[in-house]
Order: sequence, then structure tokens, then C-alpha cells
Amino acid sequence: MTEPIVTFQDVHKSFGDVEVLKGINLDIKPAEKVAVIGPSGSGKTTIIRMLMTLEKPTSGDIIVDGKNLWKMDKNGQLVDANEKHLREVRGDIGMVFQHFNLFPHMTILENCMTAPIHVKKENKQTAKQHSIQMLEKVGLGDKLDNYPSQLSGGQKQRVAMARALVMRPKVMLFDEVTSALDPELVGEVLEVIRDIAKEGEMAMILVTHEMDFALDVADKVLFLDEGVIAEQGTASEVIEHSSNERLQSFLKRFR
Ligand code: ADP
Repeated sequence: MTEPIVTFQDVHKSFGDVEVLKGINLDIKPAEKVAVIGPSGSGKTTIIRMLMTLEKPTSGDIIVDGKNLWKMDKNGQLVDANEKHLREVRGDIGMVFQHFNLFPHMTILENCMTAPIHVKKENKQTAKQHSIQMLEKVGLGDKLDNYPSQLSGGQKQRVAMARALVMRPKVMLFDEVTSALDPELVGEVLEVIRDIAKEGEMAMILVTHEMDFALDVADKVLFLDEGVIAEQGTASEVIEHSSNERLQSFLKRFR
């Protein structure tokens, strides 16, 4: 059997007294496309941020490509970061945010070249070549010298995708990447994600409110509700055929 690329084992997360994730168990296979849906505040972003190592779990294990990110004591309580594993794993995971997070003072080509040069230690020429390839892939080969402020929201989001892809991650995380866009720009961004998904090898985790898109792209859908995975299955099982009442009432908002 193929080893999962991402595993969560009984992961809990509290902010102060509030427990926002209450025991998440999850296996994601290499190349699997997983959509995460659920009401606002259910913990979707926290899951993504923990995988990106931006948040630490309160307890539980997060294992990426066979590496456990955090050290536990013998009672299973979290002790500290496993710095070596964190460093290795950060290179394996790419993320696209809701608000693009591009560097405003750099051209889009420079935006893409920065991480390969500084994190992966690629030489400038190789980084440039890969960045141009990725910007062409997302349909922006004619905008290399533009600055982010000269682009539409949809184009900025496509730059953000190229910038993540150029690191050749094993896992790509997409956190509501279309929710800050004008409705007419959503389609072009989803189209690029669909293309990347079809290419195959990478695992993808997509937090999304686009149900048709999830049906089309996701192998597996998780419904997160109040910090637990309340329902999971194929996209069709979860989005079209579940009898879970809270899921049904959540989905009604999108019909
Ligand atoms: P979702 O992405 O499903 O909307 P989030 O993961 O963003 O949910 O948030 C889950 C809960 O955790 C919310 O109640 C939110 O207010 C809380 N939360 C998230 N981040 C923090 C933080 N840094 N400090 C305190 N509370 C937080």
C-alpha cells in the first residue's frame, strides 16, 4: 500500500480556552486531491496553517512524508518543534492564500524566483527558467516584468500559484483562493487549479466554497463542523448524497 504523504493523528488545537480542533484523523495519499468544506469558524484554516507549520498542535501527531513535525514526551504531550523535520517539510509544501501575499516591490518574475534562489539555493539562471515555465503554465508568460499592482486579482492569484509551483512541492495547499476575487475572475483561477490537478503527481488540499469545483476536482471531500470531521467520502457521497443534517443545511447556502 502507498504510504500517505500527510497524516494527522488525533490532532487537537486550542487557542486559549477554546478548543477549535477536537481530534482530527486524516490520511492523504500522494497525488490525492482533498477538498475541505464547512462553515466559517469550523477550523479549516487552522488545519492548513498547521500543515504549513504556521501553527503548532496542542496535542497529536502531524506527519508529512514520513516525518513527524513535533516532538512528543512519553505521555504523548507536545514538547517542541522538530526543527530538522520542519525545515525539510517546509520545502515540500506550497501554499496559496486568499489574499495573494505577493511582494509588491518585485516583478512577477522576481516574485517567483525568490524562493528557489534563497530557499532551494538554485542558481539564478535555473530559477529564472523554471519561473518563466510556471508563469507560462498559468497563462502569464507575457507579463513577466509587470508588478503585482498592474495585474487583476485573478492574475495575481495565478502568480501566487506559479510562485508556489516553482518550488515543486509534494503537497499544495489552497486556502479559499477565490473568495477575495470579483465573481468574474473566479473562473480563470479555478481553471488553472483544475489543470494543475489533472497533471497528477502532487497532493492537493483545497479549502473551498465552490461546490461544483470540488465535485469536479476532489477525490475526497471532508466536511468540517465545530472542529471535527463530521463527514467524509467521495465528492459525490458528501456533496450530493449525504444525509447528515448539518451538512445538508450548510450545503443549502450554495444552491
Ligand atoms: P475556518 O477556516 O473554518 O473559518 P479557522 O480555522 O479560521 O476556521 O478558525 C477556527 C476558530 O479558531 C475560530 O473560532 C477562530 O476565531 C479561532 N482562531 C483561529 N486562529 C486564531 C488565533 N490565532 N487566535 C485565537 N483564535 C483563533
